Amino acid sequence: MSRFFSGKYAHLEAYTPGEQPKDMQYTKLNTNESPFPPSDKAQSFAADASKRLQLYCDPECTALTAEFAALYGIAEDEVLFTNGSDDALNFCFMAFCDDEHPAAFADITYGFYPVFTQLNRVPYEEIPLSDDFTVNVDDYIGIGKTIFIANPNAPTGIALPLSDIERILRSNPDNIVIVDEAYVDFGAQSAVGLIHEYDNLVVTQTFSKSRSLAGGRLGMAMADRELIRDLNTLKYSTNPYNVSSMTQAAGIGVLKDEEYTRKNCAVIAENRAYLTQQLEKLGFEHTDSVSNFVFAKHPRFDGGELYIKLKERGVLIRHFTKERIKDYNRITVGTKEQLDILLDNIKDILSEAGV
Ligand code: PMP
Repeated sequence: MSRFFSGKYAHLEAYTPGEQPKDMQYTKLNTNESPFPPSDKAQSFAADASKRLQLYCDPECTALTAEFAALYGIAEDEVLFTNGSDDALNFCFMAFCDDEHPAAFADITYGFYPVFTQLNRVPYEEIPLSDDFTVNVDDYIGIGKTIFIANPNAPTGIALPLSDIERILRSNPDNIVIVDEAYVDFGAQSAVGLIHEYDNLVVTQTFSKSRSLAGGRLGMAMADRELIRDLNTLKYSTNPYNVSSMTQAAGIGVLKDEEYTRKNCAVIAENRAYLTQQLEKLGFEHTDSVSNFVFAKHPRFDGGELYIKLKERGVLIRHFTKERIKDYNRITVGTKEQLDILLDNIKDILSEAGV
């Protein structure tokens, strides 16, 4: 920290993204990216938009918004596009949390939430998940806080049914509930259809996972138009050009190739079943993930050591050091070929250790 860095950030612990080492070609199963390239239309639309990069992008994302709203059956002023869904989540912390409206989220969830609370200097409460990592819905009933729920949750992959989300919404009518649906397309129920019923609901989604656009940085928030107006106030007070023109064009291409997205999600669900089955055969335990990753531990092999040994062999998975989950690893569901490389290496590591 330089002597010029504002004291207001003295205790800010920045988010650590999944590693992207460049020293060798890894089988990369650590950041929940799609193993499939962007759709043909996404690629060609982005290339075409590159010819006009001398101009600022459309701050209102007009064409993308129209395409999306028509497809998802919501009004154009009920959605805001952002620079990845992290951007939308940050706006939610800025807009809907303060001393009177502290944030609340699970103790085991997306690691960016506590960073956003520190960045925006808002108090927060971590609500422990049950021993089996499920959300105890009663813990969220009438708590009078701004609630963030990743559904499915990360890194566990476990989803809540919409009936539970509705219970939480109904019991906190004077507080905003943000449902972070980064992984919803791989097998959970989306709450987007509820935004007309609950004026305290914000749903965030991303193009980074199911839609193969992690590097394009495109996310969105969907909510009652008043809430979207609040989020827009913050966007126009920070960076009105937060979604580049190439990304807006790529996003339209993705939406015009919905079938491609659906097909890829089906393959990931199939590969997830394959991965969990094979891991079980090797003695692993895992949560019931409906996401594009599996959260698994071996009762007789240390999670941190497995991560290191796999990395040495060119396979990257994600290990978290937090006490409650340090025995586990989060493994992105890749192609069948990638998973076989992973599984072969795990077999070797376990047999070398006599497990
Ligand atoms: N929410 C969750 C639960 C995530 O795991 C991620 C990805 N790290 C995000 C939001 C943000 O993803 P992006 O900014 O790429 O949309």
